[in-house]
Amino acid sequence: MSNLEDHLRMDVVNGAKAIFHKGLVDVGEGNVSTRIPKEEELFITPTFSQYETMTKDDVVHLKFDGTQLSKGRRASTEYRLHVAIYKARPKAKCVIHTHSPYATMLSVVRKKIPVILEEMVVFLGGPGNISEFGRAHTYDIGEKALKSLGKTNAILLANHGVLVCGRTMEHAVKMAELVEKMAMIYWGSSQIAEPVIISEESRLKKDFDSNFSTYGK
Ligand SMILES: [Zn+2]
Repeated sequence: MSNLEDHLRMDVVNGAKAIFHKGLVDVGEGNVSTRIPKEEELFITPTFSQYETMTKDDVVHLKFDGTQLSKGRRASTEYRLHVAIYKARPKAKCVIHTHSPYATMLSVVRKKIPVILEEMVVFLGGPGNISEFGRAHTYDIGEKALKSLGKTNAILLANHGVLVCGRTMEHAVKMAELVEKMAMIYWGSSQIAEPVIISEESRLKKDFDSNFSTYGK
């Protein structure tokens, strides 16, 4: 195993364990991937992920067309969702898909997370929009996600969960956590009164564009 492969596999394992320990996924759901620089290939968590015991040998090496290049575990069937993002966004190095509870609740009632705190603009690039419903395990869901993603890094997948992409695994983990936290704060504050939406100031947008955006070349 080359140093690069080793590093990328560990990145996937670390991202996967991070979202599991944050309660954003349960055993057997969600997936984490990283693309291989300059190749149309990725490393992705296996189907039915066992987060606690996962090692780098469980991570699956896959071509964008779905051809499996590693032996052993089979790839997550939701790899097409990840490939759709990588193909459209050269700057996206890592993709995480979760079923985190508060964000998924909002996805079920098809409510987006409006901009309620400034950090949403800095890290996510704006609101957590909601995609049209796409069939899981098909390219359909990836295309629908991409359409609603706009220039942001995060999307609520209708009646399904969350998708985020980042320039690094650390960014992607941060975004997956942030979407869930914002969904919880939005839901909680809605119980007290109507949440006040704030504006997406250009200074915050600038910060996003230079540090976290995955949109564009
Ligand atoms: Zn899913």
